[in-house]
Amino acid sequence: MAEKKLKFNTKAIHGGQTPDKAYGAVMPPIYQTSTYAQTTPGGHQGYEYSRSNNPTRAALERAVASIENGNFGLAFASGLAAIDAVVKLLQPGDEVISTNDLYGGSYRLFKKVFEHYGIKFHFIDMQDCETIGGYVNENTKLIWVETPTNPMMNIIDIKGVSKIAREHKLLLAVDNTFATPFLQTPLDLGADIVMHSATKYLGGHSDVVLGVLVVNDKRLADRLYFIQNASGAICGPMDSFLVLRGIKTLHVRMQRHCENGKAIARFLEDHDKIEKVYWPGLESHPNHHVAKTQMNDFGGMISFVIEGNRYEDAVRIVERLKIFTLAESLGGVESLAGHPASMTHASIPKAEREKSGIVDALIRLSVGIEDVNDLIEDLRQAIA
Ligand SMILES: *Cc1c(COP(=O)(O)O)cnc(C)c1O
Repeated sequence: MAEKKLKFNTKAIHGGQTPDKAYGAVMPPIYQTSTYAQTTPGGHQGYEYSRSNNPTRAALERAVASIENGNFGLAFASGLAAIDAVVKLLQPGDEVISTNDLYGGSYRLFKKVFEHYGIKFHFIDMQDCETIGGYVNENTKLIWVETPTNPMMNIIDIKGVSKIAREHKLLLAVDNTFATPFLQTPLDLGADIVMHSATKYLGGHSDVVLGVLVVNDKRLADRLYFIQNASGAICGPMDSFLVLRGIKTLHVRMQRHCENGKAIARFLEDHDKIEKVYWPGLESHPNHHVAKTQMNDFGGMISFVIEGNRYEDAVRIVERLKIFTLAESLGGVESLAGHPASMTHASIPKAEREKSGIVDALIRLSVGIEDVNDLIEDLRQAIA
């Protein structure tokens, strides 16, 4: 496809898109319909029923495929519905090797839903990808990678993992929600499936819940399309439209998220009340060398630990923030702050979560695209 040669900023706006055939609408219309008229049984224009296919959803699916440098996109009701479809490629007895510092909802879906269906999951630290080989046996079918991880911002070497996946003929899926294709394109690094919670950066405005998958292989796309249609966890046309609109500004938003992220990471690193800062762009980050090779920049997600590691200090700081909103989720234009120990990761026992670094005084920021000096002042007054 000639389109693959276009630069990212052009693909974000035009990738997979042509003016609508009916009236030349530049933005794809919201085809709010469940069904489509047929002239004779089976005589239709490619659309029969909106669970199977819908023109607005199809426009979004082409757009995400384009920005991820993939051939096929599939859109779902949520990020978790997209992950659900990937695991449904497997059968009872199959095994999955997954990163351990994982989005809580992904962990819950794997452990509390799919383990009941006889699928086994190994959650391991993949910062040294050579350890993966030790968990591979004849039942292993899938490697699940999240990078950067949530909330510790560990970076997993996608190319390194893909070499191992290839060697053992395993599928490799990468949750690219934190990085977005502006920062890294896992299919180019050897992944078979890219997954997004488009709820976050792709949508970008905290107004929609949606998930996507992108693949290159036609047979894999067909199997996933079968599951998408058979299980039915599709997204509606209005939500598809909102994410499509979000994607058109992804590159400008990400550029500012990265700039603001860098300034805030440096501010926190220099602050004498802050013990640790986790942002993959810092030289002090343990996987900075991997981040530098596979990412174009380092994003707006930052975690940090308050000196003394007191639970109450972290709670007081997130309560005192005025511009940063205390809320779950991430990736919107507005800045958010969260306290993993009491919010997203509260269900994980303290000893367990501390093993992966989620201590009591860890705060996670989703740095938005407001004026960076205002954001820094807000942090300064809250930490003081
Ligand atoms: C939010 C999120 C998900 C789940 O997506 P939903 O759209 O909330 O279902 C999966 N992975 C990561 C990294 C996320 O941040």
